[in-house]
Amino acid sequence: MKPYTGRTAELKPEGAYEVLGRAQALEAAGRSIIHFELGQPDFETFENVREAGRRAIAEGKTRYTPPSGMLALRQAIAESAGAQRGVHFEPEQVVVAPGTKPNLFYSTLALVGPDDEVLYPDPGFPTYKAMVQVAGGVPVPVPLKEENSFSFDLDAFDRLINERTRVIILNSPSNPTGGVMPLSDLEHIAEAAQRYDCWVLSDEIYLRLVYDGRHASSIVEIPGMMERTVLVDGFSKTYAMTGWRLGYGIMPAHLAAKMDLLLTHSVGCSAHFTQIAALEAIRGPQDRVAEMVVEYQARRDLMVRLLNSMPGITCQTPEGAFYVFPNVRSLGMSSNQLSDYLLDEAGVAVLPGTAFGDYGEGYLRLSYSTSQDTISAGLGCIGTALARLK
Ligand code: PLP
Repeated sequence: MKPYTGRTAELKPEGAYEVLGRAQALEAAGRSIIHFELGQPDFETFENVREAGRRAIAEGKTRYTPPSGMLALRQAIAESAGAQRGVHFEPEQVVVAPGTKPNLFYSTLALVGPDDEVLYPDPGFPTYKAMVQVAGGVPVPVPLKEENSFSFDLDAFDRLINERTRVIILNSPSNPTGGVMPLSDLEHIAEAAQRYDCWVLSDEIYLRLVYDGRHASSIVEIPGMMERTVLVDGFSKTYAMTGWRLGYGIMPAHLAAKMDLLLTHSVGCSAHFTQIAALEAIRGPQDRVAEMVVEYQARRDLMVRLLNSMPGITCQTPEGAFYVFPNVRSLGMSSNQLSDYLLDEAGVAVLPGTAFGDYGEGYLRLSYSTSQDTISAGLGCIGTALARLK
C-alpha cells in the first residue's frame, strides 16, 4: 500500500483525552476518580439558548447557510466582539465556523507555507503546534515566564523572531496557565510583528473569563494591529456551548474571503440551528455569564489556597480562564510521574505540564470547571497521597 503523506506524521493526541481515557478505564474497573483534567465548563448551556436552538429545529432551520455564517450572526459578532475590545469590526471581517478550532486551523493553512516559522506559546494549547505541522511550517516554541504571569519570556521572543517568522500565536487568557498577558507585553510583540511584517493569530477564547474585575487586553486594540491580526474566539467557554460547535474568527476582509473558500470546500458551513442559538447567546441577557465568572473565581481561590497549603507546591493566582498551573518542581518527580502517581494513588486526574510542551516540565494543570465540593475532595486526596510520598 502506498504510504501516508507526512502531514499526519508528527501529530499526537491531546493530553487531556489520554488522561481521560486512563481515568475512565480505572472507573470501569470500579475505582472512583475525581476529574480535574478536562477544560470543559460543567455549566449547562443557558436555557434561553437551548430554547432558541429547539425552536430553530422545530421551525425547520436545518438547511445550509453561507459558508462564513448567517449575516445576522456575523453582524452581532462584529458588534459584541468590537464592543468588548473597544474597536470597530465590519461583518465581512467575521468568519463563523464549527468551533474555534477550525478558525485556528484554516487561518494557519491560509497563512503558513513550507518552512515558514511560527512562534507559539509553550506551555500552550497543543493544537497550535499540530496545525503548524500540518501546514508544513516550522513551529518555534516561545517559553512562558512564571514570574511574569506566564506571559511570553520577551528576551527569548526577541531572540527567536526573525525574517522567516510568518505568524505569532498568542493566547491570553491562557490555556494551560490561566495567565493574562499585560498590555505592555502585547505592545512589545505588536512592535516586533510590525517590524518583521508578521501576522498575529490571537486566540481569545477565554477573554471574558477574567477575575477580580480585571480586563484582558487584545492585541487588536493596539493601533496598526487589526490589519495583521486574526482574532479567534467562540461560544464554547463563554456560553458553555462546547458541544454545539461554534466559533468565529475576525480578520482583514481580504483574508476572510479566502477563509470563506476554505470553509466552502471543507465543512461547507456551520449548523443552521446552532447559529440561531448563538445569536440568542449574544443578543440575550448576559447575566448568566457574569454569574459563571463569579463562581469560577470562588473555585479558583479555593483551589489556589488548598494547593499552596501543600508542602512542595507553589501556585500563582491566575487572572483568567479556568485553569491553575502549580509549580511542583520541589517534589522531585517529573510532571508525568507525578500525574501518573496522583491518578493511581489519589484517584485524581490532572494533566502533566508537559502535555502542553517541553517548557511545561515541573508543572501540573488542574481545571476548576467543577464544583467547589469536588475541588475540596480532590485536593484532600492529593494532599493525603503526597504526604505518603515523604
Ligand atoms: N483554544 C483554546 C486555548 C482552548 O483551550 C480551546 C478548547 O479547549 C479551543 C481553542 C477550542 O475551542 P472550540 O471547542 O470552540 O473549538
